[in-house]
Amino acid sequence: MAEVLVLSEADVASLLDVDELLPALADAFRALSAGRASVPPRIAARAETGLLGAMPVHLPGVGLAAKLVTVFPDNHARGQPSHQGLIALFDERDGTPLAVMDGAHVTAVRTGAAAAVAAGVLARHDARVLAILGAGVQGRSHLEALPRVRDFDEIRVASRTPEHAAVLAAGHAKARPAGSFAEAAAGADVVCCCTDARAPILEAAWLAPGTHVSAVGGSFGPELDAATVRGGRVFVEWRGAVTSPPPAGAYELQGLDPDEVTEVGEVLAGTRPGRTSDDELTVYKSTGHAVEDVAAARLVYDRARRAGAGTTLAL
Ligand code: NDP
Repeated sequence: MAEVLVLSEADVASLLDVDELLPALADAFRALSAGRASVPPRIAARAETGLLGAMPVHLPGVGLAAKLVTVFPDNHARGQPSHQGLIALFDERDGTPLAVMDGAHVTAVRTGAAAAVAAGVLARHDARVLAILGAGVQGRSHLEALPRVRDFDEIRVASRTPEHAAVLAAGHAKARPAGSFAEAAAGADVVCCCTDARAPILEAAWLAPGTHVSAVGGSFGPELDAATVRGGRVFVEWRGAVTSPPPAGAYELQGLDPDEVTEVGEVLAGTRPGRTSDDELTVYKSTGHAVEDVAAARLVYDRARRAGAGTTLAL
């Protein structure tokens, strides 16, 4: 009989440490790009107002896991989060179930942390101004993670609903609300797009030379404009973001030549170049990847075992 550890959102929130997660994600990206992970493209069942995605992964030495994630953008109107989910972790030696944990917090935190890992190797070293476009869960996650990889003097937060930007900015000493996406992005060194927009929210014309653009949103349509994608060097978690249709791939990258995009793990491993000049536009387009979930879930599980956290159930 398998003994499964059940970890609530509160458990996961108390156990997942962003500073510990950043190097774990970098290792996961390197392993992915070296071909050491087994990860089929994400599949999803479409419901009337949302979707249920399934993301299985084996990352040797880290874990065997699957995330089930729902995305229901209208949930906010009912006071519920737009992203919910579960992660099941298994023993990679014999497939025994080890744990079931809340997946919402892992998704929230690992996405901003993965963007920070990418910015860490792609943004200019002298980057001082950060713009965060979108003040939802991902805006908050980026505000927590990005300042860990660069010493920002100024952080501008803009959102479709201005009060949301004001509330998020109020929680960080260096942040201030900006009146529009254009105002936030103008001249910023790092611009993070964190919205659920279905049409581009960013215009290449707003960007200064040498900007690093990061985009994790756009699950239901393109968040970046075509000129930004065409005008920059594009970096991804996995090259399948170009060759797979959504919900596995990215709307913005469909039809690009896969050889022209670079995986973050390749940059981290030094097998392909990252930024090559101070005036180059670098664009990290994230679709989310299961290696990020298993890297985070492993950290949570190991800490839970050490701390005696969670509830054990016999299956
Ligand atoms: P939330 O529901 O918490 O927040 C949604 C954000 O999008 C809010 O800031 C909202 O603005 C903004 N927004 C929604 N529609 C529009 C629009 N038409 N134009 C401009 N802004 C809009 O979602 P999350 O923060 O959790 O997720 C944001 C996006 O990132 C989603 O598309 C989500 O699917 C995606 N995502 C991607 C992941 C990845 O791994 N790449 C992982 C997790 C999420 P306001 O509230 O101010 O009105």
